[in-house]
Amino acid sequence: MTVPPAAAAPFAITVQPSGRAFSVERGEAILAAAIRQGIGMPYGCKDGACGSCKCRKLEGTVVHGPHQTKALSPEEEAGGLILTCCAVPQTDVVLESRQVTDESAFPVRKMPARVTTLEKVSHDVMVVKLQLPANDTLRYHAGQYVEFILRDGARRSYSMANAPHNGPGVELHIRHMPGGKFTDHVFTAMKEKEILRVEGPFGSFFLREDSAKPMVLLASGTGFAPIKALIEHMQHKGITRPATLYWGGRRPGDLYMDGWVRERLASMPHLRYVPVVSNALPEDNWTGRTGFVHKAVMEDHPDLSGHQVYACGAPIVVDSARAEYGARCGLPPDEFYADSFTTEADKHGS
Ligand SMILES: Cc1cc2nc3c(=O)[nH]c(=O)nc-3n(C[C@H](O)[C@H](O)[C@H](O)COP(=O)(O)OP(=O)(O)OC[C@H]3O[C@@H](n4cnc5c(N)ncnc54)[C@H](O)[C@@H]3O)c2cc1C
Repeated sequence: MTVPPAAAAPFAITVQPSGRAFSVERGEAILAAAIRQGIGMPYGCKDGACGSCKCRKLEGTVVHGPHQTKALSPEEEAGGLILTCCAVPQTDVVLESRQVTDESAFPVRKMPARVTTLEKVSHDVMVVKLQLPANDTLRYHAGQYVEFILRDGARRSYSMANAPHNGPGVELHIRHMPGGKFTDHVFTAMKEKEILRVEGPFGSFFLREDSAKPMVLLASGTGFAPIKALIEHMQHKGITRPATLYWGGRRPGDLYMDGWVRERLASMPHLRYVPVVSNALPEDNWTGRTGFVHKAVMEDHPDLSGHQVYACGAPIVVDSARAEYGARCGLPPDEFYADSFTTEADKHGS
């Protein structure tokens, strides 16, 4: 009598930097297994046509099923990129996908979005509200962001400024960057009812609710958007951890929802607010804190060893805060959560 061979063991997939792991049956594509196990990897067509699931393979071997070269070119494949929707592992595989977060990740979806309102709230900030398909709820953590997929395939990221319970629509705070591909359009041509393509949710900037540590919420400019979502979420969930919001701008008008924050203070006694202005003019009659917003935090909290910091906005502010809070205020590196609002200019080193 012959003993049938044991079914071949599945392959192990690990996703960095989150370290999330899942298994793939022999002959199965990575994405199918990831969806089955609720991993929240990004995807679009699931058919090798769009490239939304493209990510870097750090270790291991895969074989690609049929796919379009516009989704993955031979050069990209040779350079170590794969399409998870049609990549079938031949060994254990390690991938890099920064969009995969922890176990509480929600699935990444692509959907059309309709602009419902456009409100200019300062000389260079537009609050854009989007309506999403009624049958296709976007589930996300307060603080995460979406990406617009532009006609030429370029992508631009914007943090959602409302907590999910204040949905189903999405609110974005978009700062005009003159010469910018997307924000020039927002400030000159965008109209209500315009349809855009969005994908999300992305990012690991959300409240770590398993901690009781006091929090510093650090926002520069439109970095206030995801922090607003965190504050809404805290209020909704009755979270009463002490939190101090430091919001920095060049001039007082840059703190475009100062009134909204002050209204929250009345109903959230554990929330403090320190607006900080770096370049006030005499006509601003500014009597509040001045200087760099990340420095104001250090002045008030020379010891951050028992805190969590949530920082968002201009890369220079986020990077300075990360470096200096760790080196000079004893903040443990893994208690610094941030989304740095990088742009094309940052990617090209100017
Ligand atoms: C995770 C994340 C979240 C974000 N959330 C927000 C948010 O909530 N609100 C917000 O306002 N922004 C946010 N951003 C920034 C946003 O994604 C865009 O980068 C920003 O709005 C600029 O887009 P743009 O297409 O108008 O400009 P881009 O086309 O990206 O250009 C930006 C600037 O760089 C210049 N530039 C373009 N190409 C080059 C080049 N090759 N070399 C040098 N300079 C160049 C342009 O003239 C312009 O001034 C976020 C970014 C990230 C990564």
